[in-house]
Amino acid sequence: MVDPISTPLEDARTRLREATDLLGCDPGMYAILSNASRELTVSIPLRRDDDSIEVLTGYRVQHSVARGPAKGGLRYSPHVNLDEVRALAMWMTWKCALLDVPYGGAKGGVTIDPRQYSQRELERVTRRYTSAIMPIIGPETDIPAPDVGTNEQTMAWMMDTYSMNKGYSIPAIVTGKPISIGGSLGRATSTSEGVVHIALAALRDNGFDPTKCTAAVQGFGKVGRGAAQFAFDAGMKVIAVSDEYGAVFNANGLDIEKLGAHVDSTGKVVGFNGADALDGAALLELDVDLLIPAAIEGVIHEQNAPKVKAKIIVEGANGPTTPAADRILESKGIIVVPDILANAGGVIVSYFEWVQGNQAYWWQESEVESRLEERMLGAWAKVHDFAKERKLSLRGAATVLAVQRVVEAHVIRGLYP
Ligand code: NAD
Repeated sequence: MVDPISTPLEDARTRLREATDLLGCDPGMYAILSNASRELTVSIPLRRDDDSIEVLTGYRVQHSVARGPAKGGLRYSPHVNLDEVRALAMWMTWKCALLDVPYGGAKGGVTIDPRQYSQRELERVTRRYTSAIMPIIGPETDIPAPDVGTNEQTMAWMMDTYSMNKGYSIPAIVTGKPISIGGSLGRATSTSEGVVHIALAALRDNGFDPTKCTAAVQGFGKVGRGAAQFAFDAGMKVIAVSDEYGAVFNANGLDIEKLGAHVDSTGKVVGFNGADALDGAALLELDVDLLIPAAIEGVIHEQNAPKVKAKIIVEGANGPTTPAADRILESKGIIVVPDILANAGGVIVSYFEWVQGNQAYWWQESEVESRLEERMLGAWAKVHDFAKERKLSLRGAATVLAVQRVVEAHVIRGLYP
């Protein structure tokens, strides 16, 4: 799926290089920003349910703490490796800076296929991983959240493990927790809601009437499922949706609620009544107004980019488009709204959750949602206007704005010692 010559870390550094060149930064600043400020690799010995012992590997990477504590998700996937975690941590730095939330960027991961493990095993993995990275995480230092393969339950185990070791409850150690232990109303749907706020703004600002638009969504997890639902609720015709097992297609539009019920009972989108089966890769090449890649990185690459027909791509996933694909899409006039803007809804409401946790004062859902929309649309306007003014792509504009804020923080703080 990924360009053979381009890894997520290389992609992240290419984009950073373009931004620092545009900003006229000196090479020393690029060197600082292209490396993580702290990395921890840990062994996770796991006693499996059959009593055998297996040793897994986990990572926590803090890319930057120049603008505040590090913040970023925890991923459970068999593809997790240190370089991927480094790239994802760097993207978090830019995302937090772009949306002006007072955090640096981090990411964590465990190389594991969670579907092959029981809930009790996953709980043991999570608790051991949390204990192992405890020296570098904390509500004021580094705050994890869910990502691919992890969820609210994972965050509850992390919060409990951290709190048990400290001797009192510390809800602000993670975000994306269940509401019953200090999660925020509106957090579960925040990333996908933000993706659709941005998609609607991008469609309208480019002369499309969203209620007459077609959409395709890759991925039907925490981000993709909500994005498909919000797009459907906004009146768009969602004609195709995929997950790792395949895709489903209906030219008249899928009923996303019914599709969700089908996925809840079977675990996959394929086999949904009222749709035809479609090859997963073909979804990315459908002639739609809006394409939302919301699964994994590197799915739109040099080989398939020439065949992409969508008018607007809104990146729900982190890093779904490689730099080589970006150039091809740009030459075809396809508008790409970058991940660090499009999927920032999650970190915005994570920030709200952290603020609520620190203050032990809970907001109404309507307050969370209106503040989320205000921040997403504000960032959209800023990126959109800056791109026009400087004749940059939306990704170029978003990255330059974000990197500029981080560079400013570095310069004003000075280089220690
Ligand atoms: P998830 O594990 O909940 O869902 C991932 C989905 O992608 C699943 O439906 C899976 O079947 C599907 N998938 C995996 N490989 C695929 C493939 N090759 N083709 C099609 N579908 C495939 O993960 P998530 O939290 O929804 O995250 C998805 C993306 O969004 C990731 O890039 C993640 O980093 C990013 N993201 C997530 C959040 C969040 O709040 N969860 C926030 C910002 C960005």
